[in-house]
Amino acid sequence: MRIKLKFNFYRFSDYFLIILLNCIFIQCKESKEIKPEWAIAIHGGAGAIRKSMMTIEKDSLYRAALSEALVIGEKILQDGGSSLDAVEKVIVYLEDCPLFNAGRGAVFSHDEKNELDASIMDGSDLKAGAVGSVTIVKNPIRLARAVMEKSTHVFLVSKGAEQFAIEQGIDTVSPSWFYTQERWDALQNAKMSLKNDTSEQKKKLDTTKFGTVGCVALDKNGNLSAGTSTGGMTNKKWNRIGDSPIIGAGTYADNSCCAVSCTGHGEYFIRYAVAHDLYALMNYSKLSLEEASNLIIHKKLKEAGGEGGLIAVDKKGNIVMPFNTEGMYRASSKAGNREIKIYRE
Ligand code: ASP
Repeated sequence: MRIKLKFNFYRFSDYFLIILLNCIFIQCKESKEIKPEWAIAIHGGAGAIRKSMMTIEKDSLYRAALSEALVIGEKILQDGGSSLDAVEKVIVYLEDCPLFNAGRGAVFSHDEKNELDASIMDGSDLKAGAVGSVTIVKNPIRLARAVMEKSTHVFLVSKGAEQFAIEQGIDTVSPSWFYTQERWDALQNAKMSLKNDTSEQKKKLDTTKFGTVGCVALDKNGNLSAGTSTGGMTNKKWNRIGDSPIIGAGTYADNSCCAVSCTGHGEYFIRYAVAHDLYALMNYSKLSLEEASNLIIHKKLKEAGGEGGLIAVDKKGNIVMPFNTEGMYRASSKAGNREIKIYRE
């Protein structure tokens, strides 16, 4: 009997020790997960971006541009600015940078035009603005914000959107502003390969390279915002518009949950309502940001053949940047942690 008591006592003390150690472990984990004051993530498109295909110079040009864009956002957020301003200013920079498929450097449509799409969403009040198929607006993201703040609508396209831009005093430019030799050559190559190969597969849009830009941010006041801007896909026809300017597909933000910006084969992102699906999986199914984004990108989209990726930040400042392509230009920053990546590194 005495032996049994002693045995029980040891077991009790073991349990006590285990519980104590668990408490310490949980405490440590929680203290590591302290919400950062602010957080930001950027993408410059996903696609067949292989290290072997990239020159050292090009690699460093992309990294420098992503870093520069990140600095713009970091400064705004650090100084207590709004996530909406950070998202807009970062995207304006990326639209002006000819490396990316947005603003200057946008891809060409079949009709040899640059038709630009953009959207922005304010997670504090669920207001949103978007524009599609604009050809003379220097920074479509600015126009998207004007639609959100200065009109009673969410989505304006083509000539009407351009007229609204002029009325609002948003900078317009000659369509030649958007021209880059590289994108022009890409269109000619796409047309040529279609001519030489009539297979159905080849009749698809050129889906090997995506270069859309996007930004998501959490500011010091807990406000989440998201924005996306693109030239769409090379050789697109009939005023095709992808997911980027569609709220709930390419862009979504809600302070109670997360902010999302997508890049990839837009038709899939529209059908799967990707940006809103991330919010829904977190909000209704209680998945974490990481679980929800991996489920969408690596399972739902992958199984359907939808190539691309997304960037997202949640209300606690967690950041994810998953993609199912070979690479995605991406960068993030929070609480002194900075990351700039291109390939599956
Ligand atoms: N999602 C864009 C579109 O389909 C393309 C991209 O992300 O590069 O228009």
